[in-house]
Amino acid sequence: MLPINFTPGPSQLYFTLTDHVRNAFKEGIPSLSHRSKQFEAIFKETTSGLRNLLGLPADYHIFFTGSATEIWERVIQNLVEQHSTHLVNGSFSARFFETAAQLNKKPFKSEANEGTGFPENIIVPQETELLAITHNETSTGVSVPLEHIYTWRKKYPDTLIAVDAVSSLPYPEIDYSKVDTVFFSVQKGFGLPAGLGVWMVNEKCLAKSERLSKKGMSLGTYHSLPSFLSHSAKSQTPETPNVLGIYLLGKVIGNMLERGIQNIRRETNYKATLLYQLLDSHPILKPFVKDHSARSKTVIVADCGTHVENIARVLKEKGMQPGDGYGSFKKTQLRFANFPTHSKEQYELLVDTLQAYNS
Ligand SMILES: *Cc1c(COP(=O)(O)O)cnc(C)c1O
Repeated sequence: MLPINFTPGPSQLYFTLTDHVRNAFKEGIPSLSHRSKQFEAIFKETTSGLRNLLGLPADYHIFFTGSATEIWERVIQNLVEQHSTHLVNGSFSARFFETAAQLNKKPFKSEANEGTGFPENIIVPQETELLAITHNETSTGVSVPLEHIYTWRKKYPDTLIAVDAVSSLPYPEIDYSKVDTVFFSVQKGFGLPAGLGVWMVNEKCLAKSERLSKKGMSLGTYHSLPSFLSHSAKSQTPETPNVLGIYLLGKVIGNMLERGIQNIRRETNYKATLLYQLLDSHPILKPFVKDHSARSKTVIVADCGTHVENIARVLKEKGMQPGDGYGSFKKTQLRFANFPTHSKEQYELLVDTLQAYNS
């Protein structure tokens, strides 16, 4: 038996995935032409399922990439002439900022310490074309409250807002009319094998990319927004895509729709409360994120001090694989993904086992 995988990414596969993979091979999906009618039907099933699941408005488009790392680059290339501003409080948000610098833009950053969130009254420089927000900083388990994002939207109405929701979706109920682009990759909350990114953009983003293109700026050669748009109008992609991944994503989304997104959200809240309550009261383990409003519901980080290896061993003996601490926190922290595939029973086993650990 494989252990229950609590690593944030790649994480535990969605529990229905094996059946879908088997069917995919029976149906010949892995070698299906991406210019066939059958592919177009898969494209439509996956994108319309995602629209339903997330409540995505009609003026949003959905495009497929190779990863979220690719989308960082595409966001900067397609939506920023010179200045993006990045909220940086950990490794992933820092990479987004560095991507802009590497692409020869002039990005600003507003920093917070690892393990803490950003104040609601951040100052965004006036020249900012795009505000880059990592909704859930996966390295430290800090989440930006959606209400903060909506406040910034009101205060800076002419700035595009980009939300990296890689390790939080499908959990957060985002008001997509108050942001402009949101993206994720599938090996975290959706429980799929890695190798597929999903980029959702509104009309304002498309218009911005057209403006940059008219100015003679390069938007990239194949995954530019205009190229994505002309292909998605035919339910197609510019390149030979990860057809199997797009198919599997559609099937898992179908299962999530049957289960009900509000049920998924309720269960996520329940499991997060269990683990945070345990951490708040434990003699040895402590929650890394102290401020309750900054605590991620989907990636929960525990300070374990010198007990890291012992705790990991005890969990493994019970069939559970915790996620390592990220970067410099590897020796003192463990991370626990709380994704839709992690059942209440698995979380109860996790919490009971941690509860019993006291030496
Ligand atoms: C994992 C992660 C990424 C990168 O995703 P890839 O699919 O590996 O490119 C980006 N942002 C956040 C917040 C992540 O957790």
